[in-house]
Amino acid sequence: MILLNKFPLRLRLTILTTVVLTTICVLLTTSSVFTAQKMYAVPAEDYNFNTTLSNLSKEPPATDRINNNFTYASVAYMFIMIVLGTAASYFVAGKTLKPVADLTKRIETIDENKLFQRLEGFDTNDEVARLAASFNHMILKLEKSFNHQKQFAANAAHELKTPLAGIIANIEVLQLDKNPSVQEYKEVLDDTLTNAQRLSTLVYDLLKMNNAINADICESFDAKDMFEDIILALSENSKVKNVLIKNNISDIMLFGEKVLLQRAFFNLVQNAVKYNKLNEEVVVTAAQNDDFVTVNIKDNGIGIPEEELESIFEPFYRIDTSRSRELGGSGLGLSIAKTIIEKHNGEILFESEVDVFTKVTVILPKN
Ligand code: ATP
Ligand code: MG
Repeated sequence: MILLNKFPLRLRLTILTTVVLTTICVLLTTSSVFTAQKMYAVPAEDYNFNTTLSNLSKEPPATDRINNNFTYASVAYMFIMIVLGTAASYFVAGKTLKPVADLTKRIETIDENKLFQRLEGFDTNDEVARLAASFNHMILKLEKSFNHQKQFAANAAHELKTPLAGIIANIEVLQLDKNPSVQEYKEVLDDTLTNAQRLSTLVYDLLKMNNAINADICESFDAKDMFEDIILALSENSKVKNVLIKNNISDIMLFGEKVLLQRAFFNLVQNAVKYNKLNEEVVVTAAQNDDFVTVNIKDNGIGIPEEELESIFEPFYRIDTSRSRELGGSGLGLSIAKTIIEKHNGEILFESEVDVFTKVTVILPKN
């Protein structure tokens, strides 16, 4: 059987059919020869072998001759039937497997540059049609993921290009100046530092998105304290917009990699401040049951249109690119937050009404 697996399917089907056919033919021929011999056998008393020597020279009785002829003819027909049957099964197997051969040929023409192609024309309601449908489904997912990767690489390159271009331009301007003053050196250095810091943050963010969570350093920590730290870190931003951040959490513990979760919640509160209106507030609340902790961050800001709610988690996605660029940021905040929450087996949900509010709900398992 293992040896059979090495042959093409068409040959395997033919060999198996031939084995079955041969067995049936041999059994059928044997049984009919046996039955014929029994039916036409000469009774023992009519044919005495031990009589005289002269009997030996005599021809065997007619019934024996008929029996022998019948046996030879049966065996000959059996072989002819086996050969014809084998040829027919080879032909039929080829016909049956033709759609599979067509499918294989068509699949072979699809490479990474033709992921948009689909297998069409397999409309029968059989296994081959189902295989073609599954293949189309798989290729659609591959195409999406491939485009996603391409888009991600293009966006990452674009984000990295801007600070690099800034650094290069500053240095070139300084080189053109024959006698730069100390002040000019200082300005270029300051600018270069800002750009280098932006590059460093971007690289750090990109790496963080791919890091696996380290179970060894997971711990329980107080949610209220963590949000106090976040509010302190964002005090400059909130002061500029006169946004008040209310930390209404008490007695709730979170479990996980603290640095990562703090980073995720920081991004969410940062957005709540950044996309809020002037003189408004951000309210942070939390609740828990036996298994989960639910944290809510609500702002009264510009809101998110419903059709954008799915896309905002994509890396580098910003709703209104020019507006978001004015506010700074690279569009990685939410995708990092989502990645971190999901790595902790949690969930992140958005509810929003344009110009009214945005409420983020984070659900985390207790351990
Ligand atoms: P970064 O976080 O990298 O500094 P960003 O804030 O533009 O940049 P994300 O945090 O990923 O990127 O958010 C993606 C987009 O979702 C934002 O550009 C913004 O348009 C929208 N968004 C996110 N949070 C809010 C919110 N609370 N209110 C309104 N819009 C939001
Ligand atoms: Mg953000």
